[in-house]
Amino acid sequence: MCGIVGYTGPREAYPIILKGLKRLEYRGYDSSGVALLHDGKLDVYKKKGKVAELEESLTGKNLHANIGIGHTRWATHGEPSDRNSHPHTSASGRLSIIHNGIIENYAPLKKELISKGYSFTSDTDTEVLLNFIEDIQINNDCSLEEAVRIALKRITGAYCILLLDEQDPETIIAARKGSPLVIGIGKGEHFLASDASPIIEYTKEVVYVNDYELAIVRPNELILKNLGNEKITPFITKLDMEMAAIEKGGYDHFMLKEIYEQPSTIQDCLRGRLNIESGTITMAGIDDHIEQIKNADRIMIVACGTSWHAGLVAEYIIEELCRIPVEVEYASEFRYRNPIVNKGDVIIAISQSGETADTLVALEKAKENGAFIFGVVNAVGSSIARISHAGAYTHAGHEIGVASTKAFTGQLAVLMMMALRIAIQKGTITKERYQQLLVELADVPEKVDAILKNAAHIKSIALKYKDARDFLFLGRGYNFPIALEGALKLKEISYIHAEGYPAAEMKHGPIALVDENLPVVFIATKDSYHEKIVSNMQEIKARKGKIISIITEGDEISPTLSDDVIFIPPADELIAPIISVIPLQLLSYFTGIAKGVDVDKPRNLAKSVTVE
Ligand code: GLU
Repeated sequence: MCGIVGYTGPREAYPIILKGLKRLEYRGYDSSGVALLHDGKLDVYKKKGKVAELEESLTGKNLHANIGIGHTRWATHGEPSDRNSHPHTSASGRLSIIHNGIIENYAPLKKELISKGYSFTSDTDTEVLLNFIEDIQINNDCSLEEAVRIALKRITGAYCILLLDEQDPETIIAARKGSPLVIGIGKGEHFLASDASPIIEYTKEVVYVNDYELAIVRPNELILKNLGNEKITPFITKLDMEMAAIEKGGYDHFMLKEIYEQPSTIQDCLRGRLNIESGTITMAGIDDHIEQIKNADRIMIVACGTSWHAGLVAEYIIEELCRIPVEVEYASEFRYRNPIVNKGDVIIAISQSGETADTLVALEKAKENGAFIFGVVNAVGSSIARISHAGAYTHAGHEIGVASTKAFTGQLAVLMMMALRIAIQKGTITKERYQQLLVELADVPEKVDAILKNAAHIKSIALKYKDARDFLFLGRGYNFPIALEGALKLKEISYIHAEGYPAAEMKHGPIALVDENLPVVFIATKDSYHEKIVSNMQEIKARKGKIISIITEGDEISPTLSDDVIFIPPADELIAPIISVIPLQLLSYFTGIAKGVDVDKPRNLAKSVTVE
């Protein structure tokens, strides 16, 4: 996945690159490195571990340069180590590269290069690409730009690359396919990065580079070309993002800040769309294509991870309210099997970053088959947002904590509004029920706020169970996907093994795990399944499992069966998931902290999964 940064202009490049890498660390933190070019000489520094470790190792060094590139890695090819860290240097020592992505055909290329006498210092696919480029440059006696173009036509896979050439003191060559690249335009300077966060404090004018485009970037010049060497006019966009959005704002961790932002991010998501007085939902992406969407033969939801859980909730809600068949697919499965996608199908792609590699490729495939693509994305201007026919942003703001929180509740709010908007148009919901759900949805921010005020109690429960080896999360109906999400969050943030299950299904296997050491979290809010889930609690209690229940204020039965109880405000069962997930986010956060995990950067993970 990796984060990349580049700078060329009159300022000192290193501080800009370092700060940028820290902002991009959510994308990977196995190792980091920089290449600085000054006085016709490339200096490359790299180190295993987080960016702070690189920074420390560089204290006292002369890092003066006005051009440079930097990388924070999420290893795909080769273990995390100094040697496999980027930037990589070409065999001659003349070129330096950073790369985000995977070169799929690196093995035959490596073989070819080895037969020509090349040797490699790392196990990465990236070093192969670099020497392949250098070999082309030497054999064709051409410019680096030309060599890159030729090389890219021969490789398969995904990349965003930045290259420096010792003999060209002002130029960065960049190219992308499948991995993101934003170029910030300053006065006599340019900034390059995987997302806008390293750029925002210097300029708000940016260009989002598209797939198969190559950029030649100098302080006073930005040339964009396609791989056929034809010039493309850069499309300049104005960033709609403030610095505060990428800082911790007094919280210990981004994850906690993002959990606490939810009353306002959900509000931002509803604002301008949901209007109780007029009884309307306005969503341009739906309004402009309402006939196509409401008459869809089928809706397919394609997503990964937490977004996939939002998709499961949406499946239940859309089928209930709109009476359209819905299927939810893991993007990684969808793209490799041979799914039946027809012209009348609507595909909803859900992604926080809008860059998820598996989801992107899945969409391209569905698009080819004539499906209508609707993107539910958080990152404005991201690749999925751009390839979709229509879409709705979640407006949750920049999410930095690797475990998704506010983006998830934003996704649920958007999907709920979509379902209501389609249902009222289709006539599959009564006016009264529609109006009732609008009011319920508008009340969500206040209810989330009430749960956050109860954080101290949730923390005490986390401390009580932090040493458990396993956890089971159980829910039914609309809360079943929330059980999955609760288990995923706990795994990610605390490294405790956890499983989410439909409460009734646990009898078919997981119940064998239950003993007095197993905490079982029930998401058992008041809904049409409530009596059934209370019976499931009895079944766990009979086997001495420890019950932590998330239940609706006023519920008098569940507390008698539970060891610990978290009350949450009453809500309609369709709306409940947006609320019932909040205590689970806090439970994971406090457990992770108690176990000493770096919750913003849990091991082995990265936020924006731009590799397959
Ligand atoms: N494939 C490269 C490596 O392993 C880059 C990985 C990435 O983008 O995550 O170093």
